[in-house]
Amino acid sequence: MILSVVIPAYNEAGNITVIARQVSEQAEKIGPYEIIFVDDGSTDSTLEEIKAVAKNNTSVKYLSFSRNFGHQKAVKAGLDYAEGDCVISMDADLQHPPELLNELINKWKEGYDIVYTVRKDIRSVGFFKKTTSIIFYKLISKISDVNIPLGVADFRLLDKKVVDELRKFKENFLFIRGIVSWLGYKQTGIEYEIQDRYAGSTKYTLRKMISFAIQGITSFSIAPLRVSIIIGFIISIIAFFYTGYIIYVKLYMQSIIIPGWTSILISVLFLGGVQLISLGLIGEYLGKMFIETKNRPNYVINEKKL
Ligand code: UDP
Ligand code: MG
Repeated sequence: MILSVVIPAYNEAGNITVIARQVSEQAEKIGPYEIIFVDDGSTDSTLEEIKAVAKNNTSVKYLSFSRNFGHQKAVKAGLDYAEGDCVISMDADLQHPPELLNELINKWKEGYDIVYTVRKDIRSVGFFKKTTSIIFYKLISKISDVNIPLGVADFRLLDKKVVDELRKFKENFLFIRGIVSWLGYKQTGIEYEIQDRYAGSTKYTLRKMISFAIQGITSFSIAPLRVSIIIGFIISIIAFFYTGYIIYVKLYMQSIIIPGWTSILISVLFLGGVQLISLGLIGEYLGKMFIETKNRPNYVINEKKL
């Protein structure tokens, strides 16, 4: 059995040596292994650190992107190149404890094809991240046909056959958590306590988080498109009754007809807003189709050692 560990890293220079050491310590106890670092276009010395580690340890391999393509694509690239019978993906910042490798492998040996992890205690995650993540997972489970357990990250074990299926996904808008849930197979989860980041700061800026959430929802659900239909329907009903009222006023209460500009202004502004939202939603999906039809590669590799 060969174990592959995929570690995406974006400006993680301070973490590389430590994570490489801790993961190889754990992996050596398990059997033959490979660690695949995916340098996601880092601008610091991450790649140099990885190369230094790879020089001393032949089990350490790497891919280096030509620019920053994003976390999901880095994980995808690692999965594309992994040769193991099972592949574990984890973050480079040591928030995902390497001691759990053994536990993941044991579940796999019990016959599970996918072993995901759920963070037990999200105390160290921060109030904002915690709340937004709860809202996001509740929402996506409700409006799409994937069910992602709360607190799931890209720290999981996948059997080789699952990885083979994942490689067939050529879509540009990757939301690996959703795809893994969508794939099915025999899945189980283990709980773990999330650790504090070892070095550096989070690479998921608010912008990246929002974009991740929009990607997640719009790649797995067309419910947002229906929202505009529902709003349109409700507004039409209101407008229908309001029209009745206008006609009534016109016929029987002609004296109060002139001061109507308030209601006109309100309805024009309101409808304008609703229309813009709906257009934006349609644009979001249309833009996705535009990009997917171009069928571009998910990432570009500049350097690699495999
Ligand atoms: N990451 C990446 N590309 C990016 C952003 C992040 O490869 O554009 C990596 C990062 O190096 C880390 C993992 O994805 O290994 C998770 O990122 P981070 O720890 O910053 O996110 P958080 O734990 O704060 O959600
Ligand atoms: Mg982190």
